[in-house]
Amino acid sequence: MTGRAGPYVRKVPSGRDGLWASSRPRLARLDIELTERCGNDCLHCSVNRPAGDAGARAREWTAGAWLDLLKQAADLGCLVVRFTGGEPLLRDDFEAVYRGARGLGLRVMLFTNATLVTPRLARLLRDVPPLEAVEVSAYGMAAESYEAVTRAPGSFAAFRRGLGLLREHGVPVALKGAYLPPTRRELDELEAWAAQVTGSPDPPPSALLFDLRSRRDGAKNALIAGLRISGDEFVRVARRRGEAVLDEWRGFCARSGGGGGDRLFHCLPEGRSAAVDAYGRLQHCLPLRHPGTVCDLGAGSLREAVTGFLPRVRELRATDPAYLERCGRCFLRGLCEQCPAKSWAEHGTLDTPVEYFCGIAHAQAVAAGLLAPGEKAWTVADGAERAKRRRRP
Ligand code: SF4
Ligand code: SF4
Repeated sequence: MTGRAGPYVRKVPSGRDGLWASSRPRLARLDIELTERCGNDCLHCSVNRPAGDAGARAREWTAGAWLDLLKQAADLGCLVVRFTGGEPLLRDDFEAVYRGARGLGLRVMLFTNATLVTPRLARLLRDVPPLEAVEVSAYGMAAESYEAVTRAPGSFAAFRRGLGLLREHGVPVALKGAYLPPTRRELDELEAWAAQVTGSPDPPPSALLFDLRSRRDGAKNALIAGLRISGDEFVRVARRRGEAVLDEWRGFCARSGGGGGDRLFHCLPEGRSAAVDAYGRLQHCLPLRHPGTVCDLGAGSLREAVTGFLPRVRELRATDPAYLERCGRCFLRGLCEQCPAKSWAEHGTLDTPVEYFCGIAHAQAVAAGLLAPGEKAWTVADGAERAKRRRRP
C-alpha cells in the first residue's frame, strides 16, 4: 500500500518495486503446535491429550528449542508464526516463547480456548501486541451447552473470564464456533454476540465438518464421526445468509479447472507455510502425519527441511485406482475437502477418497446447479465449463 510515510519508513506496494523480487521468503508462515495437551476434552477434538499427560509433557520441545527454531524461521524470511495446540497457554513457558517470536519481528497468531488467560498474559498481549487478533474458540453460549462440548466442569466460567480479560486490556480477538449437537440451536445467538465482542459485522466462522484424529489413535473416532452432519444439512446451514455462497462454490469449481490427475498436493504452494508438532516434527500441515511426510527437526535444520524435504513431499503422486478414477478426474476438487491429510486420518493412506467429504461436495454441487441429483462429478467432462456458465455476471 502506498501512502504518506514517516522519515524512516518508505511504504511500497507489496509484490512490486522489488520488495520480494530478490528476497522471496522460503517460508512465509510457520505453524507450531506447542502442546497436544488441553484442559478441555472437546467432543470433536482431533488433537488433544489430557492436560496432565506427563509423558506428552516430557517429550515436548523446550522453550529454548522453540526459540532456536523461530530464529531459523526468521532467517528464512518467515513473517508470521501461529501458536496452537492442544491449548498453547498450558505451557508455563508460553510467555518466553511469545516474547522471543515478537522480538524477532514475527507477527503472532494465537489460537486458544481462553480458559487460561491471566491478567499478566492480557497485559503482555496489550503491551507487546501480537499484531493479529487472538483467535478464541467459543464452544457455547451457556455453561450447559459449552461444557457439554468441552466435558470440563468450570470451563465456561474460565473461558468467559479469560475472554473478558483480553477485552478489558483492548486485545483484539476473533471468535470461532463449532456446529455441534449441544450448540446447533445457538448459532444465531453466537453470531449476534460475536459481533458485539469483536466489533466485526462478519459472522464468526463455525466449523461444520470434523476430522478424525490424525494420530490415528482410534478410540475417539466413532464419537467424532457421529457428530458429522449430512450434505443436505451442510448446504442448509451454509445458505442461511443467502445465495451468494452458491456462486462462491461455482467460482471454486471454475477456478480449479477440472481434475488433477495423479497429483496429490494442490494446497501447498512452495514457501507458503509449514507446521511443526509439539515434539519438533515438521510437516506440511499439522494433520498430515503419514510417516513419509514427516521430518524430525532434531536431526537437521529448518532450512534443509523446507528446501529439501517439503518439495519432495509435494511431488508425491497418487496410485490408488479409486483416487485416479474419481478425484483425479473430478471438477469439484476446488470445493472438496478431500486431501492427503484427510485420507491419512480416515484410511491411513495419502490417496484414498473420503466418502464423507465426497458426499458433502456433491451436495454443494447439486445445490449450486452443477450436478443433477445422483450424478457423479468424475463422470462429467465439462464440469469447469458448467461452473463458469452458471456464475453470476
Ligand atoms: S479446547 Fe481445542 S484443543 Fe482443547 S480439547 Fe477443545 S478443541 Fe481440543
Ligand atoms: S468430490 Fe469426491 S471424487 Fe471429487 S475430489 Fe472430492 S472425494 Fe474426490
